[in-house]
Amino acid sequence: MTFLADCMLGKLARWLRILGYDTVYDNFAADDDLLRVAGQEGRVLLTRDRPLVERAAAMDDVTCIHIDALDIDDQVAQMVADASIDLDRPTFTRCLECNVGIDSVSRDEVEAVVPPYVLQTRDTFYRCPSCERVYWSGSHTSRMNARIDAFREAVSRGKAAQNV
Ligand SMILES: [Zn+2]
Repeated sequence: MTFLADCMLGKLARWLRILGYDTVYDNFAADDDLLRVAGQEGRVLLTRDRPLVERAAAMDDVTCIHIDALDIDDQVAQMVADASIDLDRPTFTRCLECNVGIDSVSRDEVEAVVPPYVLQTRDTFYRCPSCERVYWSGSHTSRMNARIDAFREAVSRGKAAQNV
């Protein structure tokens, strides 16, 4: 399952990438382009724009999800409910900037670009083949994993609310 997020959903697009979902996000894409790319590439269109939802509904080749919530926790919970995204996938498999899969690289390969402290304390490094940005697990990944736990809680709260 791959996604295409409209310009109002940059934060959600970033979280989908963190969860490893191939998600195209273009801040400047016009509605016509969004519909064309969603159809051609078979991407599920995510939008907060009601008229765009209606245009997509009239097209045979476009699947569209109207994201109602403003809050990111609720948006992710909606993606779990409506698109069955999995919050337990391995995180950081994809470049957050370029949306391409990142490659595992050796310490030697990143020596020149990673701060010395990080080189000494980390074993696993990844590099984006497109922008060459280097990723490693660190305090920011722990924070992000804590946030994903918060998403899981939002999902359980939503399910509990439905069962009342
Ligand atoms: Zn990149």
